[in-house]
Amino acid sequence: MKTQDLLNYARGEWIAGTGDRPQLVSAIDGAPVATTGSGGIDFGAMLDHARTVGGPALRAMTFHERAHMVKGLGLAILAAKEELYALNYLTGATRKDGWIDIEGGAGTMLSISSKARRELPDAHVLLDGAVEPLSKSGSFIGQHIYTSLQGAAVMINAFNFPVWGMLEKLAPALVAGVPAIVKPASSTAYLTEAAVRVMIDSGLLPDGALQLIVGGVGDLFDHLTGQDMVSFTGSAATARKLRSHPSIARESVRFVAEQDSLNSAILGPDAAPGTPEFDLFVAEVVNEITVKAGQKCTAIRRAIIPAAYLDAAQDAIAGALEAKTVGDPRDKASGMGALVSCAQRDDVRAQIAKLVASGARVVSGDPAAATGPEGGAFMPPVLLRADDPWAATAIHDIEAFGPVATIMPYDDIADAVALANRGMGSLALSMFTHDPQAARDFVVGAAAYHGRMLVINRDNARESTGHGSPLPVLVHGGPGRAGGSEELGGTRAVKHYMQRTAIQSTPAMIAAISEQYVPDAPKHFVDTHPFRKRMRDLNIGDTLKTASRTVTIADIEHFAEFTGDNFYAHMDEEAAKASPIFEGRVAHGYLILSFAAGLFVDPDPGPVLANTGLENLRFLTPLYPDDAMRVELTVRSKSLKSDDEGVVKWAVEIFNQKDELVATYDLLTQNEA
Ligand code: NDP
Repeated sequence: MKTQDLLNYARGEWIAGTGDRPQLVSAIDGAPVATTGSGGIDFGAMLDHARTVGGPALRAMTFHERAHMVKGLGLAILAAKEELYALNYLTGATRKDGWIDIEGGAGTMLSISSKARRELPDAHVLLDGAVEPLSKSGSFIGQHIYTSLQGAAVMINAFNFPVWGMLEKLAPALVAGVPAIVKPASSTAYLTEAAVRVMIDSGLLPDGALQLIVGGVGDLFDHLTGQDMVSFTGSAATARKLRSHPSIARESVRFVAEQDSLNSAILGPDAAPGTPEFDLFVAEVVNEITVKAGQKCTAIRRAIIPAAYLDAAQDAIAGALEAKTVGDPRDKASGMGALVSCAQRDDVRAQIAKLVASGARVVSGDPAAATGPEGGAFMPPVLLRADDPWAATAIHDIEAFGPVATIMPYDDIADAVALANRGMGSLALSMFTHDPQAARDFVVGAAAYHGRMLVINRDNARESTGHGSPLPVLVHGGPGRAGGSEELGGTRAVKHYMQRTAIQSTPAMIAAISEQYVPDAPKHFVDTHPFRKRMRDLNIGDTLKTASRTVTIADIEHFAEFTGDNFYAHMDEEAAKASPIFEGRVAHGYLILSFAAGLFVDPDPGPVLANTGLENLRFLTPLYPDDAMRVELTVRSKSLKSDDEGVVKWAVEIFNQKDELVATYDLLTQNEA
């Protein structure tokens, strides 16, 4: 393979770094793959380009436009996946390992995009929570909003997931409207560079939305401001160094870190050898040691086992590990590939030596063994055992970032909780149990020290996504040693790149600022029924005022008989009068909703296709027999799901004859665009 000169992508151009250009080599056989470097790059100008060109272009787009762009980028990565798989092997990873990185990365883009289109408005501003009333007459209210940060998101990534590691951060930043400067770990930067090329070549990104540094970051940190953000994945030592950069403290730069984590798996006290949970535990520990040759931030490092089952678990795990073939990742027969580099393998061997010095012993796999092709970074999976896990402190403190885990015994649930928490904060934990009480006691005791926890058993194992997979819709990150940050978690991730601001003003101003109708904002009463209009012709604040109808006692009795809802408040005058809430019989809430629909619905097919749900329903004033009700139906917000279809959120307000609010809710309809 021809050695490639990796290029930086700065200010809209591919630029070679000058000066020293370290050589990157294949993990399989040590052959040169690429040279890299970022000498001569003007990092301050890159930040400036992101802030003055990329940011404004992204902020001019709505959440939905940006989410569509992110989907397009994910699809472009998928379309180019074979090109990326070819490079993936050179990092030591098998096709299965690469699937997590490449297709998992693209899938994360698609998932974040889809969530954003479903959950965020087709607007530039995101509301946070409900209106806070701040005055008697309602002319002065408060509303929290999120807007895009106006700096750059600097993303410093680890070597182990050159594609996913970039995309899981890039997707939420772009949806939030914040441009990114990506700096991959040098050893696998050729794969990241190829993925960045695919995205740039797609033509979907506005200029300045994505830049790449293949090499050191020079004086980049000196130029950071409080509108920028740093998102880091790697070692705790580097995180500490970067976090303590003077600019980070001086400018209050947001700093997100995913770093070393001594994740654990717990075998439940009920999960004796022979139970499905025992077998599931063994399979998952083996899987986590060998996938990506154990170079995963979420990998199980500590397997915590009831003392009585420790020998059986050791035999089962060691047996399965010894049956794995370690070898060339391009070979389908290889159950485990290489580590990323010989230096990384040497580091893992050195860490194993520290675990042994602390009181653990190797019970399977020879750390010094030379396996796989000549010149490659191969080693067999290694299982250690610590019979006194409280004395062998290194097993809770030192992460051997390779195919390595330690088994250890526990006495009871309290001991298991304490051992798991001794990791001082972890990204992920799995418990294998079929006992709900054990699960409860364990999770309540250990959740504060963990970012994500799985309780796995015979009922969910088949569909489980596994211990080691961060999911785009769930939080990734952990407290303490794991970095103390959160990534992903659905649209939560988008908010990390935005500023929350409390706005205090009139409802009219809040509606104008947020591009959404809020209660008491001006309405625009329309004559044409809004159900007759396509989404593009509906304006925020367009309101249909319906006729009024009287609700009689006969209506209430008919509804009770028809539905079977004979609750005392509707059917027993004496009991209703005696209640602390009602002055007599009242109309059913569901009757009010049904009559409301009868008042505002326009019956003909399209452009409104279906009612897809109600949100935030509140009954505020009882409706008594012979009271009248009418509805005001207002376009609150619009979200396009595709070029043809979208969701309209309608504010529904039901009034009685005294213009008192009887009920309010948001109605969601699926509409033709
Ligand atoms: P590092 O912390 O060395 O590197 C992580 C990233 O930071 C890389 O992109 C690296 O770039 C960059 N970096 C290093 N120093 C600086 C600096 N002074 N300024 C700016 N950027 C810098 O981690 P590695 O990826 O090399 O992995 C080392 C160890 O980290 C592993 O052995 C493992 O223990 C741990 N790790 C933990 C992970 C987790 O999430 N739990 C994930 C990955 C690693 P460059 O490569 O160019 O030096």
